Amino acid sequence: MKISQKTDVKIKRFPDFSPRVSNARIKVICGPMFSGKTKSLISAINEEKSQGKTVFVFKPKLDDRYAEEAIVSHDKDEVGAFSVERPKEILDLYLNADVVAIDEVQFFDESVVKVCDTIANAGKSVIVAGLDMDYRSEAFGPMPQLLTLADEVVKLNSVCTFCSGRARYSHRISEEDGIVVLGEKNKYVPLCRSCYSELK
Ligand SMILES: [Zn+2]
Repeated sequence: MKISQKTDVKIKRFPDFSPRVSNARIKVICGPMFSGKTKSLISAINEEKSQGKTVFVFKPKLDDRYAEEAIVSHDKDEVGAFSVERPKEILDLYLNADVVAIDEVQFFDESVVKVCDTIANAGKSVIVAGLDMDYRSEAFGPMPQLLTLADEVVKLNSVCTFCSGRARYSHRISEEDGIVVLGEKNKYVPLCRSCYSELK
């Protein structure tokens, strides 16, 4: 990497533009399974709605664990949502929204990163929730790029199944291969760093 230490530098001229205050931002809510990501997303959505904002909610089509056209938290809070197969479908639908919320964003391919950036650059708020790590504790899909791009990151913990400490890993207990295996507590347990490394 080349590091410049020159002091006699010329300053670039700013182009003419009209600065404006905007609420545009990208917020990422992440953490392991059972950490309350969807609950936190639903509460953010309800807060935006209470301020008179129009919120459009999206989720990937493959996730239909609870409801086809809604996002539902583990304790059954619910909000209506569009199920879409590809992130670019969101670009056809978001224009009338002030806020775009996406649940289970880790299941989308990396094109969702550009979609979130485009929506925020159009002056809207984007709030996404997703698993930051898969069951092997590797980065999940588009999450690293979304976390880099985010204006705000909320990292949630769950409660470790063995020691009740702060859990940040989603440990798969079912004998299945594949990154995407949908399931609940019959297939995954939240674990803290030390219990997870013991088990590995
Ligand atoms: Zn533990």
